[in-house]
Amino acid sequence: MPEGDTVHRSCAQLHRVLAGQVLTRAELRVPRHAAADLVGMTVLEVVPRGKHQLTRLDSGLTLHTHLRMDGTWRIVGRGARPPGPAHQVRVVLGTGTDLAVGLRLPVVELLHTSDEQNVVGHLGPDLLGVVGQPGGWDEEEALRRLTADPRRTVGEALLDQRNLAGVGTFYRAEICFLQGVHPRTPVGEVGDLPRLVRRVRQLLQVNVTRPTQVTTGIDRRGQRAWVFERPGQPCRRCGTLIAVEEFGPAGQERLSYWCPRCQPQK
Ligand SMILES: [Zn+2]
Repeated sequence: MPEGDTVHRSCAQLHRVLAGQVLTRAELRVPRHAAADLVGMTVLEVVPRGKHQLTRLDSGLTLHTHLRMDGTWRIVGRGARPPGPAHQVRVVLGTGTDLAVGLRLPVVELLHTSDEQNVVGHLGPDLLGVVGQPGGWDEEEALRRLTADPRRTVGEALLDQRNLAGVGTFYRAEICFLQGVHPRTPVGEVGDLPRLVRRVRQLLQVNVTRPTQVTTGIDRRGQRAWVFERPGQPCRRCGTLIAVEEFGPAGQERLSYWCPRCQPQK
């Protein structure tokens, strides 16, 4: 599942090839916008907000996309064979030199740039955002939102993008392990929440420029994570078998991994 760092990296790649370029080809393969004609418009910038992507055009329009579970963008040279399979293509944006193709994007919508707040205004501070910028990182505000309901589990509070934007199931599992916190611990009972938040931000920052997510410091297949997607395998610290369960608000249950010994439930 793409998390904040993946979305930021993807936006940076799109920005590199699209910003300042006139669109010579543009297809939105979703029923609502199939007739939209963006050819001739210039891309101003591609910016991330949490896990959302905003492609701003000089016409005052913004293309809003979200990768959600397994969406992705592929960029190829103009003459190259377009990435596919074709039935998974949702967006095609072409310039004189490059072709950017959005695959399996569950959210593709065109809106006025002045209305962006309607789709990203609910988000908490962006862990990868710049401090002091609108929607950027603000530790105090993130902590205030996280602890607004102290009985809520830290595992759920971290995934709620209204509290802070950028954490998915990978970083949730890894940061709870690194802090020795069971994911079901009420957020009001987490020992050093500011430290947890600072460390998860560091993890995202370290990974934003690399193609694979690493929290162990070892960028080798099968060794990159402490507990994520390692159910039944021995904990790298104590040898206890890693546990897994699904929990969260009804309809939004997500897999949660932890070491029963390193992260005892209180
Ligand atoms: Zn352990």
